[in-house]
Amino acid sequence: MLSGLMMNYQLTIDRILEHGNRLYPYKQVKTKLPDGTLHKYSYRDLFRRVKRLCNVLEGLGVQPGDRVGTFAWNNSQHVELYFAVPGAGAVVHTLNIRLFTDQLSYIINHAEDKVIFIDATLLPLIEGLADRIGGVEHFVLFNVPHGGIETKLLGRVHDYETLMAAADEEYTWRVEGENQAMGLCYTSGTTGHPKGSLYSHRSMYLHTVGSCQAAAVGVTENDVVMPVVPQFHAMAWGLPYAAVNVGADLVLPGPHMQPSALAEMIETERVTVAAGVPTIWNGMYHDLKQNPRDISCIRALVVGGSAMPRSLIEAYEKELHVNVVHAWGMTEMSPLGTVSKLLTHHMDRPQDQQWDVKARQGYPISGVEMRIVNEEGRELPWDGTTMGELQVRGPWVARAYYRLDGGDDSFTEDGWFRTGDVVTITEDGFMTITDRTKDLVKSGGEWISSVELENLLMAHPQVLEAAVIAVPHERWQERPLAVVVPTLASEPPRAVELRRFLEPQVASWWLPDDFLLTDQIPKTGTGKFDKKVLRERYART
Ligand code: AMP
Repeated sequence: MLSGLMMNYQLTIDRILEHGNRLYPYKQVKTKLPDGTLHKYSYRDLFRRVKRLCNVLEGLGVQPGDRVGTFAWNNSQHVELYFAVPGAGAVVHTLNIRLFTDQLSYIINHAEDKVIFIDATLLPLIEGLADRIGGVEHFVLFNVPHGGIETKLLGRVHDYETLMAAADEEYTWRVEGENQAMGLCYTSGTTGHPKGSLYSHRSMYLHTVGSCQAAAVGVTENDVVMPVVPQFHAMAWGLPYAAVNVGADLVLPGPHMQPSALAEMIETERVTVAAGVPTIWNGMYHDLKQNPRDISCIRALVVGGSAMPRSLIEAYEKELHVNVVHAWGMTEMSPLGTVSKLLTHHMDRPQDQQWDVKARQGYPISGVEMRIVNEEGRELPWDGTTMGELQVRGPWVARAYYRLDGGDDSFTEDGWFRTGDVVTITEDGFMTITDRTKDLVKSGGEWISSVELENLLMAHPQVLEAAVIAVPHERWQERPLAVVVPTLASEPPRAVELRRFLEPQVASWWLPDDFLLTDQIPKTGTGKFDKKVLRERYART
C-alpha cells in the first residue's frame, strides 16, 4: 500500500473550542437561571472559564482517564464541563437526573466517578444516595443560592464559583491523542442494568463535523441553537459541540422545561434550531393553542428519541409554520444516525406525501452505514416494506460497552452494532421504525407495529398521548392494548370512537382489543414511553 502524505492531525475536542474562540469570540451562551433571569456570556468568556475549570480539575486531583460526573440541567457550567473535562484528559460522565436512586448509584459506582459536579437545585436527589457512593472524592456545587447551602453529602463539598475564582486562566490541554476517551453516557436501561457508551475525542469530533453537514442537522453561524434535549441524554445530541464548532449562539433553558417557558424563550431569543423529544414538542404544541406565541423563527425543530407522530409534524408545519426535522439516533451512536429531510425528487409531490416522508426516521447521514437483517442474520432488501433489525456502523458508533462483565450480543462478529430497532428502508434510503424488537406485538405469528398505532391514535383530536403494548392472549399469543391520555381541552374519547377512527387506517387484526384511559403515560428518564412499567401495570397474565 502506498501511504498518503497528509498530516496525522489529531481530531480532539479542544480543537473545536480553540476554533470557536478564535473565529467567534463574540458569539453568546445564554442560560435561563433557576430564578428566571437570563445569564449571558461570550464564547471568549466560555474559553477562559474552561481553562480555569481545567485547573480546578487538576487541583481536585483529576488525572487523565478519570471519570468526572455531572448532575445538572442544560446550562453554561454544564457546557464548560463538556469542554474542560476532556481538555484535562478526563472523561465527562453525564448523569441522568431522572433515574431512580438504585440505577443512579449503580452508574456512579460502575463508572467510578471521582468528582461529581452538581446543580445545587438538584442537590437533594444526590443527597438521597450519599451513603451508597462513598467512592466519590469531591462534590462541586454550582448555582448555589446567596447565603450558601447546607448539605448532608459525605466527602468534600466545594463551591464551583469559589474554586473558579481562585484558579489560573493559563492551561495547556492535557489531551494525549484522538483515541483518548472523553465522554461517558449510560443508556436509560429499561431492561437490565444501564450500559455505558464511552466516546473518544475522535468519535465526538467526527460526530460534530458529521452533524454539521447541510444534509444532517446543518447548524451554521446564523443559527441560535436551543438544545431542550437534556445534556445528560447522549451529550444533548452533540449540539453544544456543533454550536461552538460553527459559531452559533447557544440558548440553554436550565430547569425551565415547561412548555410555556420553552415557547417564551424561543420567541424572545429568536431561536432557529431547537431540539427535543416528541413529548416536549407535543406539550408545547398544545400549550401554544391556549397561549399563542410566534415561534416561526425556528427553521428546524429537530425531534428524535421516539417517533414524532405524523399528525404533529403536519400541525407544526401547517399551523405554526415551523419546519420539522425528524431524526433518529442512539446513545451508542453519539447519537446521530439519520435525518428526514426532503430530497429534490420529493419536491413535486403533494404536501401530504411530503409529510409522509418527513414522518419517517430518515436517511443515514454521511458517516453512518445501515443494513437490515432477518432473524438468521441474512441481509434484507431496501424496498420500503421488508421489516428487519437495523444494524449500523461508522466512526461514531460504539464497538463495545464500557466495562461490561460477561460480554454482550449487541455487536456482530463482522463489525456492526445491533440497534434493537425493527425497521423498513425505502429504495432511496429512508428508514422507518416499526418498533423496538422487544415492543413488537406478535399476534398469531404476525407483527403489529405499536409505533404506527400510537402515531395514528395521537392524530385523534381528543388524544394527547397514546402508547400501545402487547398483552398475552390465549388464541393469538399477543394482542395490542392501547393506553390513551385525553387532551385537557376536550371530552375524553370513547373506546368505540377510537376504534372507528382507526378502522379505515389499519388492517382489522391490528385494531387494539381495548383502549384504556389514563391521565399520564409513565416515561423513562429520557422521555420515552416506559413500556416496561405499562406491561407490568396492564399486561400481567
Ligand atoms: P437512546 O439511546 O436513549 O437515545 O435510545 C435510542 C432508541 O430510541 C432507538 O434505538 C430507538 O428505538 C428510539 N428512537 C430514537 N429516535 C427515534 C425516532 N426518531 N423515532 C422512533 N424511535 C426513536
